[in-house]
Amino acid sequence: MKLILLGAPGAGKGTVAKMLTAIDGSVQISTGDILRGAVQAGTELGKEAEAYMKRGDLVPDSLIMGIMEKRLQEPDCEKGFLLDGFPRTIPQAEALKKLLHKLNIKLDMAVDIDVPRDVILDRLCTRRTCNNSDCQAIYNVKSNPPKQEGICDKCGSPVIQREDETEEAISHRLETYNEKTAPLLGFYEKEGFMKSVSGTSSDAVVEAISSELGL
Ligand code: ADP
Ligand code: ZN
Repeated sequence: MKLILLGAPGAGKGTVAKMLTAIDGSVQISTGDILRGAVQAGTELGKEAEAYMKRGDLVPDSLIMGIMEKRLQEPDCEKGFLLDGFPRTIPQAEALKKLLHKLNIKLDMAVDIDVPRDVILDRLCTRRTCNNSDCQAIYNVKSNPPKQEGICDKCGSPVIQREDETEEAISHRLETYNEKTAPLLGFYEKEGFMKSVSGTSSDAVVEAISSELGL
């Protein structure tokens, strides 16, 4: 499948994407994961992105398009991909449209995961992430804690609260979402392949998506 996953921070894009990869071998492409990996590795890209990310601001479109242009041409994308956290702005969506045209790739749909704001806020404050940039497994202190406190079940690395998951950065990320990313719903509506799924359970969201795709 070739999907764009839209939705506010904390809507469950990452969790849903990971579940969908298990269905048909499509790959999850998370710009957030790629950027956090670059920050940890101390690459040029990471150095450029770090300050924006810490504040909960968006990284400049040009940096993101550079990442995506390369990533979408890697061979593992042939089986399908789930774009998680990209596009985030109208200019990114316009640039993606051109890029896909150039690469002769057709998307199946854009899915908006619609979750009530109070659920989102609660989730983001209790979310924890594996610190290993190759893993980045997602936990929740209330609903899905690691088996051993603070240690990733999958790889044994420390499980931490992200630096942009302080209350202040969270509310800034939600504002940025409303201002810059929410307009993408109208964009893909016009393109004719927008599908909205509301649901607080990631299982239900995955089921709705697979049935929509006839899987
Ligand atoms: P969430 O969806 O939980 O907010 P992500 O992991 O998708 O978090 O992104 C974390 C941060 O990485 C964002 O706050 C932003 O600074 C940066 N980022 C990720 N994807 C993009 C993008 N497509 N455009 C601009 N900035 C991005
Ligand atoms: Zn891990």
